[in-house]
Amino acid sequence: MEIAELVKKYESRGPRYTSYPTALYFSDSTSAKELEKAALDDDRDLSVYIHIPFCASLCRFCGCSSSVCTDSRKADEYIDALRLELGLWKAAGLGKRKVGQIHFGGGTPNFLTPEQIDRLNALIEEFFDKTEDLEFSVELDPRTLTKAKVEAFARAGVNRASLGVQDTSDKTQKAVGRIQPQSMNLAAVEYLRDSGISKINIDLMYGLPFQNEDSFAKTLEDALALAPSRLALFNYAHVPWMKAAQKSLEKYGLPDAQTKVGLFTQAMKTLEGAGFEYLGLDHFALPGDELVLARKNGSLHRNFQGYSTRGELALFAIGLTSISQTADTYRQNHKDMPSYTKSLVEGRIPTARGIKLSAEDILRRSIIMDLMCLLRVRYADYPCDFKDKFASALEKLKEFQKDGLVLLNPDGFEITKTGRIFLRDAAMLFDAYLSDPTKRYSKTV
Ligand code: SF4
Repeated sequence: MEIAELVKKYESRGPRYTSYPTALYFSDSTSAKELEKAALDDDRDLSVYIHIPFCASLCRFCGCSSSVCTDSRKADEYIDALRLELGLWKAAGLGKRKVGQIHFGGGTPNFLTPEQIDRLNALIEEFFDKTEDLEFSVELDPRTLTKAKVEAFARAGVNRASLGVQDTSDKTQKAVGRIQPQSMNLAAVEYLRDSGISKINIDLMYGLPFQNEDSFAKTLEDALALAPSRLALFNYAHVPWMKAAQKSLEKYGLPDAQTKVGLFTQAMKTLEGAGFEYLGLDHFALPGDELVLARKNGSLHRNFQGYSTRGELALFAIGLTSISQTADTYRQNHKDMPSYTKSLVEGRIPTARGIKLSAEDILRRSIIMDLMCLLRVRYADYPCDFKDKFASALEKLKEFQKDGLVLLNPDGFEITKTGRIFLRDAAMLFDAYLSDPTKRYSKTV
């Protein structure tokens, strides 16, 4: 079956599975104290996520938790708040734990001035022990990046950077409110490489107004000219009921599912032609990259930052809206600044909500994550009579097999190359929460 026909058949709405259950199911029904105790009791080394919620301006497609800010002093107040948050954790019993991975996400981490980046790093060093093989990554916006900021990130030990490029055509950039000529992207990678930060990811987005085969060919050419080792090709998630600014894109018309898949398959061809491997969903990487190696040795992992290595670490997140993960809980901080700071000032860790996973949740999560990360399921890996318990999902997978998306075998099943495009649809067969009509998701293709 042609990909266009497969899209018609399988196009649906569903989660991106950066967690299971998804954040839509976090609530206050498990007490903050219980969720915090789970973080304190999980004595693994940490992967620390720090959320920087400020952006200099708003991109109309944005689905992140961020707010426009023009006063850089706000970031100093925010670093003070992060210090209070870490102080509360220390008082609650969190020792100076080893950290194998740090990620600054946003918003825009390079909203911070060089002095603020130094302050944030001093905070990390006060509360945590960085390991020798630390992976330290940061999301960057080339439009507001300077050499001095990159040097400050390098001083902190950053060794990987993700540059938000999205699309390099003028027409699309004007429509989405993000003017970013290629010269800015080239300058950003030059600053990074000059400072010794050589592991570079590029983020692109498809599904934006005015994108077509020709314009996207140029975007891909520009992205490859930056010589990244990883490339993420995000499917624009149009969710105007959650992100009101996205509504303004509708007047330009948004590419339909067929056009989007056309753009994606075009990108696949171009990137594979340039030596990249398709990891699945939205990620590509060069063969020597850690993500490809992790896929091969079975340690590839998925969390709120997307695909990741270091799945053996407990995710400890600080800052507004950030989400932490232990073996059987997710815990999210307050999403609005007044509630976040009020909690800190009153001496409470700013936990807003979360979930304690049942044994059933943990089982389904491991199946979904194996599918998303390893592209295969082996029945013997799970503590249940898989064929019996998931008989209805396996029946539906026979249809996927007929269409060339999965290969069923006596011991399990695997996703085919074409099936990687429909990975979310296959994972959804094992999701017990999808029947809830009150929850809305973005399109899977
Ligand atoms: S896309 Fe990035 S820079 Fe643009 S508003 Fe969202 S978080 Fe900020």
